[in-house]
Amino acid sequence: MGSSDSRLTAQLGTDVGHWIGGAEAPGTAQDRYADVYNPATGAVARRVALATPAQVDVAVKAAAAAFPAWSATPALRRARVLFKFKELAERHSGELAALITAEHGKVFSDAEGELTRGLEVVEFACGIPQLLKGEYSEQVGTGIDMYSVRQSLGVCAGITPFNFPVMVPMWMFPMALACGNTFILKPSERDPSVSLMIARLLQEAGLPDGVFNVVQGDKVAVDALLSHPQVDAVSFVGSTPIARYIHDTAAANGKRVQALGGAKNHMVVMPDADLDQAVDAVIGAAYGSAGERCMAVSVTVAVGDIADRMVARLKERVPAIRVANGMDPSAEMGPLVTRAHYEKVKGYVDTGVAEGARLVVDGRDVKVAGHENGFFLGGCLFDDVKPGMRIYREEIFGPVLCIVRARNFEEALQLINSHEFGNGTAIFTRDGDAAREFANRVQIGMVGINVPIPVPMAFHSFGGWKASLFGDHHMHGPEGVRFYTRYKAVTQRWPAGIRAGADFSIPTLK
Ligand code: NAD
Repeated sequence: MGSSDSRLTAQLGTDVGHWIGGAEAPGTAQDRYADVYNPATGAVARRVALATPAQVDVAVKAAAAAFPAWSATPALRRARVLFKFKELAERHSGELAALITAEHGKVFSDAEGELTRGLEVVEFACGIPQLLKGEYSEQVGTGIDMYSVRQSLGVCAGITPFNFPVMVPMWMFPMALACGNTFILKPSERDPSVSLMIARLLQEAGLPDGVFNVVQGDKVAVDALLSHPQVDAVSFVGSTPIARYIHDTAAANGKRVQALGGAKNHMVVMPDADLDQAVDAVIGAAYGSAGERCMAVSVTVAVGDIADRMVARLKERVPAIRVANGMDPSAEMGPLVTRAHYEKVKGYVDTGVAEGARLVVDGRDVKVAGHENGFFLGGCLFDDVKPGMRIYREEIFGPVLCIVRARNFEEALQLINSHEFGNGTAIFTRDGDAAREFANRVQIGMVGINVPIPVPMAFHSFGGWKASLFGDHHMHGPEGVRFYTRYKAVTQRWPAGIRAGADFSIPTLK
């Protein structure tokens, strides 16, 4: 554990800088910085440098310079680098997870789970020689053959949110790199440190310098990426207003773009559901990671007479959730990421009370002994939430669950289909007909049947509908290959084929 300790200490040095062209690029005295907190204590732990447009330009130029050689590297060799990276990331999983917990606050086991889900995308990307195989048609005309290939794009940028500082970047860069692109990661400025450890591990795995770069920063760095003529594609995950902005700006600048936004995920509990299973599911899905998950269940639609029984159970369970420092092995829920976010979430609880929803469990006064200044909020539960309320319409992104009561299946479905967001949803029922009807008619990108957080495996793709995704492609899996490559169709004839002279009309089969 000695060398691990020293590596971790190095990761958690005072200021967090960039990673450009295969080396750390520390901030300078002239740079702007943002504070990075330890959410469990509330103290400022370190600062992160915020890149200027000039620093972004250096990173883009490094990525552009590395592109020709990397895109010409056989796909199998690119895959071997990713295999090695996966092995290294697994070897250092404890340090990576501890870095996540240190700045995000989520409990350590959840941070380990985040890493595992991210590495599943690396595993999928290791199959890139197979995934890039094109199609071939012989004799499409006399003596003429045709084939199609998918080729890399160039420099791809990834702009990521605070809530999954490892998994969300891993939805992007393993696919982008496997497809032969070079990459610039702009992580969240709230938990930036782990991105540098990823960069080091990629280098140790044999990735050539300049292929993967990190620029830390805020809107200034993002805007510099969106307007840079040498950035070819932009992947974004974050809140809906920013996702819309990223999509519109990148598209207007001629870039390929996918921008995933916020969520308000409904879990429908039908009267015939297994109540024990549904209660366990909603406790984990609503309060895990303190509700700071884009796939968190934030609304439970209780159908018919199950509502009273469900609320009675939740009233017992929610206050019993163990809130503690994420590094405490007994913790079930850690702190929120920053004081500003804590105040925002607490403000929503105040709003819900003012709007007339019934606050069944109030976590606002929870204190964690020895961590009195940490950003801890206990689980909160609202019943009798109505569709017109702000706590129903808006994304809260904290440990606050809203119960909406519906008379029947149709009413539950209409609630979901008329909501602005369309990321994930779930139905709990024993009725196969109801489940099938739900999966078929619901206007949502990811659907669970008796599964509360239906995050697709890496060999499928992740993405929502409506205001939860702007752009044409979901992330990773087959959609990731399509996003990070361009399609090319080649039609070929060799001199031995028929010589027919010039033809001035469009070629047709003769
Ligand atoms: P955010 O939108 O505040 O920030 C995301 C990224 O955008 C960060 O890198 C940030 O630096 C940058 N950014 C922030 N403001 C910007 C601006 N004005 N101009 C340009 N760039 C800007 O999101 P967050 O608070 O870090 O993350 C939480 C949000 O992300 C939630 O809404 C959550 O639902 C969403 N999320 C969605 C998914 C999904 O798959 N749909 C996954 C994870 C998180």
